[in-house]
Amino acid sequence: MSVMRMDLADTGSPEGLVSLVLKHEPNFRVPVPIEELALQLEIEEIAELETEGFEGGLITDSNRSRGIILVKRGVNQPRRRFTIGHELGHFLIANHVPDEDGRFLCSRQDLQTLSAKEGDRRAKMEFEANRFSSLILMPPPKLREYFKRQPSPSIEHLFQLADEFQVSKEAMARAYADYHPESLAFIIVKDGKVGRIYHNRKRPSSQQAGTNRFHKVRYSTEEIFGSAHQVRSTKDCPTSGSMCRAGNALRHSANKSVFRRMAMR
Ligand SMILES: [Zn+2]
Repeated sequence: MSVMRMDLADTGSPEGLVSLVLKHEPNFRVPVPIEELALQLEIEEIAELETEGFEGGLITDSNRSRGIILVKRGVNQPRRRFTIGHELGHFLIANHVPDEDGRFLCSRQDLQTLSAKEGDRRAKMEFEANRFSSLILMPPPKLREYFKRQPSPSIEHLFQLADEFQVSKEAMARAYADYHPESLAFIIVKDGKVGRIYHNRKRPSSQQAGTNRFHKVRYSTEEIFGSAHQVRSTKDCPTSGSMCRAGNALRHSANKSVFRRMAMR
């Protein structure tokens, strides 16, 4: 690896950082060697985190003269890799400010922050660190190579890519929906309820939040619930407008996340 930390000095955004890394490492392999990259970019050590209730941490100072990444003990490999990417993001994004003790401590919730309200600085830092982690672990140019090789999208393909990139299925679902050339979305059904929905963020409908957003997406419920009707707006919803009630009709074993894909029309 030849990328140096000073090569990345001119940018502070997750997107800018990742494109500079890729420019210097055009032959980045998959799964992305995230630990090797962190050490190459002047992280001194990746150690176990002993503080209860946190998923990851970064010991540093305001000048970023040093950096030690901490990862919760015993987590699976995809989760560990995502946490390392996240903490590396805090280390490289210059305007991320550690707390007074010179460290970042990140909870499970921080690692799931996918948006931030205007003015919420902490949420913005967490969101940007997650964005960096996703982009570096699943670089869009690499994903596009895989999509070119297998252009027809499927859940099986999503799972296969999650495996190859060594990321969680959910992280891959987000990236897959974002970068696949075909318009599609994934919904995650848990305990018979519709949980998170990921679809191409460039589409106008993704600007809407929550249930309304969902109803603005045209989808065939057959693809999701195995029934045969179509929903085009809240009005047409067979469960008088409540997505959750439609979701409740599903029977799944407790705590099991079920991935479904829907085509958007
Ligand atoms: Zn964080």
